[in-house]
Amino acid sequence: MIHGSLAIVASAPNEPPVINEVILDELRPDEAYIEVHAVGVCLADLAVLHGHIPLPFPRVLGDEGESQTYIRGRDPTLLTDLLI
Ligand SMILES: [Zn+2]
Repeated sequence: MIHGSLAIVASAPNEPPVINEVILDELRPDEAYIEVHAVGVCLADLAVLHGHIPLPFPRVLGDEGESQTYIRGRDPTLLTDLLI
């Protein structure tokens, strides 16, 4: 099943990020889906946005999420270490 989700999207370095709906690809066997209710944009995100950490664009910002731990995927145990 393909899902849409709101995301903070940075289209290019030093461009203001925008909140857009993005479409998520089908899960690969080595991926899991976590429903995230809120995210924070941290200094690492700002460093990427301002080009201090060279990563490809466009990219989704907000790596610090709050979740109800709703996980779906072929092998949700992949995230066991992450969630403990
Ligand atoms: Zn962070």
